Formats: sequence, structure tokens, C-alpha cells
Amino acid sequence: MIEKSFIDIIKKENTEVFLNEPMKSHTSFRIGGAADCLCEVRDIRSLRNIILLCKEHNVPYFILGLGSNLLVSDKGIEGLVIKLSGEFNEITLSDDNIIRCGAGSTLARLCVFARNMSLGGLEFAWGIPGSVGGAIYMNAGAYNGEIKDTAIAADYMDKDGNIKRYKADELDFAYRHSVFTDTENIILNASFKLTPKPQDKINDRMQELMERRKTKQPINHPSAGSVFKRPEGYYAAALIEECGLKGYTVGGAQVSPKHSGFIVNDNGASAKDVLDLIGHIQKVVKDEKNVDLCCEVKFIGRTD
Ligand SMILES: Cc1cc2nc3c(=O)[nH]c(=O)nc-3n(C[C@H](O)[C@H](O)[C@H](O)COP(=O)(O)OP(=O)(O)OC[C@H]3O[C@@H](n4cnc5c(N)ncnc54)[C@H](O)[C@@H]3O)c2cc1C
Repeated sequence: MIEKSFIDIIKKENTEVFLNEPMKSHTSFRIGGAADCLCEVRDIRSLRNIILLCKEHNVPYFILGLGSNLLVSDKGIEGLVIKLSGEFNEITLSDDNIIRCGAGSTLARLCVFARNMSLGGLEFAWGIPGSVGGAIYMNAGAYNGEIKDTAIAADYMDKDGNIKRYKADELDFAYRHSVFTDTENIILNASFKLTPKPQDKINDRMQELMERRKTKQPINHPSAGSVFKRPEGYYAAALIEECGLKGYTVGGAQVSPKHSGFIVNDNGASAKDVLDLIGHIQKVVKDEKNVDLCCEVKFIGRTD
């Protein structure tokens, strides 16, 4: 448990603090036990103070985006969950068609801003329900586009409170991977180099891709998107379907009848239901197809 003195100090920062906060209210899966403490941090000075305080008090921290790629343990999360808001939502445009966007902003706001400025390159991201920080961390992608195609820099804070910048060639983007993967660095903002394009063309492409999503994906059910990474030479959804697992259920977790790459929280699923279903899918696909499926969804929180 976090000491009261720690909580009292972070409450004095520019934050909103929630104790024993149910993570199912912060994840698209609608699953997850309580975080010891969740705080929304509104400015960089407060963020730095809190990170240094975590170090001093030995409190682990986790940076939450929009929780759209997470499976949180039923036993919750130890330590502090940090959500970026306030000045971390700012978006600015410079003369050279570069948009700088705070990591706490939704990707949707960034896409709309770019369209309104008649700048193309981010249409693919319309419909990905994450934050800009989460999209950089994951190198989010869809329909032949990836964040890496336009991201040219990201400012971040390291665990000692220092602010640094990675340029394009240092971001180490790969399939659902970036230089931030499995580090404690906090993405503060990212810059995107975009290309002038007529607004109606950008809009048409965004609507077209959203329609495709609505037709193919169970977007009205709680999920974390595609559960598995695309295995080299295959499609995870096709393998799962060929193994007869479409609609397969463990507890309240179900392989979506609409898209076999998604697991949906159909009926009050626990994280354990989802983990058991993932394990079952991996075993069947390995046995029948000899393919290893690796998780794209990130499991976090207490394991014992
Ligand atoms: C219906 C649905 C459809 C989806 N479709 C797609 C798709 O087409 N393509 C795709 O790539 N993904 C897709 N996803 C998955 C998800 O939206 C993306 O992975 C997204 O980029 C995650 O962003 P987030 O803000 O929700 O991150 P979270 O899920 O909150 O976190 C993911 C990781 O990013 C880290 N992180 C977040 N913000 C920061 C920060 N500021 N600094 C450091 N680390 C940070 C977290 O610590 C965590 O490790 C989909 C999900 C759903 C539910």
C-alpha cells in the first residue's frame, strides 16, 4: 500500500487523485481490479515532482493512455497509475506542416485537427481508440499506415525527471514496437510531419476506413482490439477461425463472432477469463497449425 504521506504530497500538485480506483472504468475491455492510486497530472512540473517522489518512496508507476490495449489484473495494480491531462492535451501546428501533439490527447482529436488544417498522413489512425502517447509507444497502425510513417520526434521524461528528445531515427519503430517499449520513460508529446491534402479527400478516406471498421470489427463490445500480433506469413484471426474457435467462450470472455482476432467482454468477464481464453487459443493454434501466437494486448497488474 502507498503511504498516506505520499498521497498527501501528490494531492498538493496540479493533479486529481483517486484512491483504490477501479481500472475497469479506465480500460476499453471494462476489466480490471483497483489501482492503489490513480492520478491525473495536468502539467510537466507536477509530473516531474511526482516521478521524483515515486523514486524517493520506492513506489512503482504506470503510465496509462486510454487503456485500449490493456488487460488489467483482477487483483489490480500496485503503486501509482498516472494519466496525462491538462497541458498534455495541447496540439500546435508550425509553418512547415509539423503538428506537435501532447501525449494525453486522443488520436481522434489529432486526426480531426490534421484534417481541419488540410494535412494528410494520419487518416489511417481514425478509429484507433487510443491516445497519442499510446500510439507512439505501440507504433499503432492500420490499413497500411503506421505511426512511424509520419512521427518525426517525441519528447519524453525519464525516471529521474530529465526531459529528453528522440528524433525519427532514434524512435526504433517496428511492428507494434518503439524505443519506449518496456521502459519507464514517459512520452510527453510527439511531432508529426504531414503533407498538404484537400480536406474533402482526407475526410473521405477517414469515413471509408471507419465504415470498414464498423463492418468488420465488434466496435460496440468491450475489447482491447486485436489480441494477437500478426504472425509472420499468417493472419491471427484466420488461424483462430480455421481452428473452430470463433465464438469460443471462457466465463464471460468470448472470441468475437464478428472478428476472431478480437476477444470481447461479453458478460462481466474477469481478467482470468480472458487469460484462460488466450491460453486456450494459443495451445489449439500451436497444436493444429504449429504457429505461435504472441499477445499484442498488454497484461498489467498484480499476479499474486
Ligand atoms: C476496438 C479497438 C480497435 C483497435 N484497433 C487498432 C488498430 O487498428 N491498430 C492498432 O495499432 N491498435 C488498435 N487497437 C489497440 C489500441 O487502440 C492501440 O494499441 C493504442 O495505440 C493504445 O493506446 P492507449 O492510449 O489506449 O494506450 P494504453 O492501452 O493505455 O497503453 C498501452 C501502452 O502504452 C503505454 N503508454 C501510453 N501512454 C504513454 C505515455 N504517455 N508514455 C509512455 N507510455 C505510454 C502504456 O504504459 C502501455 O504500456 C484497437 C483497440 C480497440 C479497443
